Amino acid sequence: MTGAAGKTTVLYIGGYSRSGSTLLLRLLGEHRGFVAVGELFDVWERSYIQNQLCGCGKSFRDCDFWTDVTVEAFGCKPGEVPAAELNQTRAEVQGHNRIPMLWRPELRSPGYQRKLRDYAAVLDRMYAAMRNVADSTVIVDSSKVPQYAWVLAEAEGIELHVVHLVRDSRATAFSWQRQRLRPEITSRRTYMDKHSVVRSATEWNIFNYLLHSRRKAYASYTVIRYEDLVTDHHSEIKKIISAVCGENHLAEEPDGGSVNLGTSHTASGNPGRFLVGETKISVDAEWMHAMPTASRLIVTGLTAPSLARYHYPLLVRRARSEVP
Ligand SMILES: [Zn+2]
Repeated sequence: MTGAAGKTTVLYIGGYSRSGSTLLLRLLGEHRGFVAVGELFDVWERSYIQNQLCGCGKSFRDCDFWTDVTVEAFGCKPGEVPAAELNQTRAEVQGHNRIPMLWRPELRSPGYQRKLRDYAAVLDRMYAAMRNVADSTVIVDSSKVPQYAWVLAEAEGIELHVVHLVRDSRATAFSWQRQRLRPEITSRRTYMDKHSVVRSATEWNIFNYLLHSRRKAYASYTVIRYEDLVTDHHSEIKKIISAVCGENHLAEEPDGGSVNLGTSHTASGNPGRFLVGETKISVDAEWMHAMPTASRLIVTGLTAPSLARYHYPLLVRRARSEVP
């Protein structure tokens, strides 16, 4: 299957960070014809400039997949791409202060519109090269941020499908408080950022609202919940694949609560990118017994309307520590 009029089909995992997007990315990447490429919203800085690890374990510039993609898209090796210049354009097109212009096209100046079109053309070439090198029909990008989805939606050569992954706001807020190492940076010991519960609750509201608000700009839009994904990944993956490919391209039958993961060439994302082999899928609900009551109440209060919209209970009984 290819997109309409030979377009590159991109399936974008959108939502708020710490929602299980890497798990969803890896599950989709195991489906025939789908290739998981990780988070590309910041690819120039993280991959081309900082040379962080690819999911295959090699550094980005040494990875054969990304070398082939770069040669096809830009006619040169990864180290020769004008990454600093492209990174500057990326900031001018999709930096946080550009969100209003991407969200509401009527706010765009002619100069901004031109820059956006030129940058989208670069992405066109890059995603088409990924499709060709991987010999796949659907590129799965787990960047999550809404504004990058909107940039991809502007690319003339891309047919953009969005799966909106939602997770309980209290679970994401709890996750943002935990200290986690970043294995993709090998030059020094680096930890993932930590956020206050107020900040993560506020961002959870904003990210989910923004992604949903422009759903008509996407070729298809599917909402799934992390909690449903880990309970029955087969049904949720089937739902997404049906939305992208139609009823004739359904996932194969499940074989229990685990999945056999192959090597992936994911440019960026969380440590789950590096998992290979038989992997058990289980719910991470540590927040239900370990999150301080005050933090739970703050996050519940700040996100109550959207929690209700996504069918989460506002009152959750504090689980005992033996609950997984
Ligand atoms: Zn690789």
